Amino acid sequence: MTPQLSTAPARKMALPGMSRRRSCRYNGTMTISFPVLTLHRGREKSALGHHPWIFSGAIEAAHGDPAPGGIVRVVDWRGDFLAWGYWNPRSQIAARLLSWREDEPPDDAFWAGRIRRAAAARVEETLLYNGGMPAAFRLINAENDYLPGLVVDRSGDWLVLQALTLGIDVRKDLLTAILMETLRPGGIYERSDVDVREKEGLPPATGLLAGQEPPDLIEIDEHGRRFLVDVRAGHKTGFYLDQRANRLRLGNLLRFDPGAPEREVLNTFGYTGGFSVYALDGLARRAITVDSSAEAIALARRNVALNGFPAREEDFVVADVFQYLRACRDAARQFDIIILDPPKFAHSARQAESAARGYKDINLLAFKLIRPGGLLMTFSCSGGVDADLFRKIVFGALVDAGREAQVLETLGPPPDHPVALTFPEGAYLKGLLLRVW
Ligand code: SAH
Repeated sequence: MTPQLSTAPARKMALPGMSRRRSCRYNGTMTISFPVLTLHRGREKSALGHHPWIFSGAIEAAHGDPAPGGIVRVVDWRGDFLAWGYWNPRSQIAARLLSWREDEPPDDAFWAGRIRRAAAARVEETLLYNGGMPAAFRLINAENDYLPGLVVDRSGDWLVLQALTLGIDVRKDLLTAILMETLRPGGIYERSDVDVREKEGLPPATGLLAGQEPPDLIEIDEHGRRFLVDVRAGHKTGFYLDQRANRLRLGNLLRFDPGAPEREVLNTFGYTGGFSVYALDGLARRAITVDSSAEAIALARRNVALNGFPAREEDFVVADVFQYLRACRDAARQFDIIILDPPKFAHSARQAESAARGYKDINLLAFKLIRPGGLLMTFSCSGGVDADLFRKIVFGALVDAGREAQVLETLGPPPDHPVALTFPEGAYLKGLLLRVW
């Protein structure tokens, strides 16, 4: 059904207390009116550029008593339509935009359509890039799938959902029903235990949303390697799916390296051993996994064993990576390949400076520990540190370490983590593959 809009002219001025609800006529039978959000003059630019966020400071007035989480019609200072969005008066991001088409006011069918679109694209993209469906991948990547605030990952037969915003939180039942019907998973488990919800005025929420409870550990196949994933208590939704392509890259680098059986790999911030399993599968002599989480290291050991490799006690280290790298430097330890995949050091652009110090520190230490001709795979997942700044930080660390390095590849997330072209904030994961001399 294509909704038809009423042709009532937009009012030119917002008068205090005056209702500015606009009506939308669906096929001439039903009239639904939507509250209206009017932007200050000159603040329409980002909405015109299809950026999905409207900051509270850009809003001149909200009319028609919008409900928290409810749909609003966003208009410019003249009253001209800009976009449809959902509203949260408690958040600095007061509205997140859903559609820039006036004839597409978001109703239940809209949400179902967007979810189906994302799911269908994933099947195509993951088949194209992987030659087969991985057992775990991202189905819905929030703003980047034009579904702001909604993350859905698939792990085996289960979906894991994160509702990052109020607009998603109030629609959880609807979205769960659509996901169950569209994808028919064994169950949907919620992992909305993320700090960003605080900014939306929401408490953390976890638990079963629909279907069967997931097992304690779900075994997944990733490019032929097997991993145990704890969707209930693991980080994020259980596994760092955004690093899948880079783990495979490491595996392939070793597979085609005749010297692989000599290689020693240091996998720092290694979580449950993802990069280590690929390194061993690529015939590396040794892969040492370091992480500050004892639970993650315990699972890393199990994952290495699950793939048929010896899990030696000394290769699994619960430690602070900053201290571990210093100890290696002091002991003159050397490695052939080092992976640096730290957590987010900067939660916003304001923290970029202190984050830069952290990145420089670990990269400097890593450069000192790499044998000439060895490789460094170094990452940042801080949204506040863009690819340019990250490259400059690594460059500074290299010069201070007195080494030489070449960029073999710039690295990013796999295609099931698409980045909307109009949403630069979506490009949080960036990395470099360097040959170090
Ligand atoms: N590379 C991993 C994901 C790493 S996520 C993968 O492919 O699965 C970042 C990891 O860093 C988390 O597991 C977290 O427990 C760990 N971590 C955070 N701060 C740390 C620190 N100071 N020292 C060691 N590990 C740390």
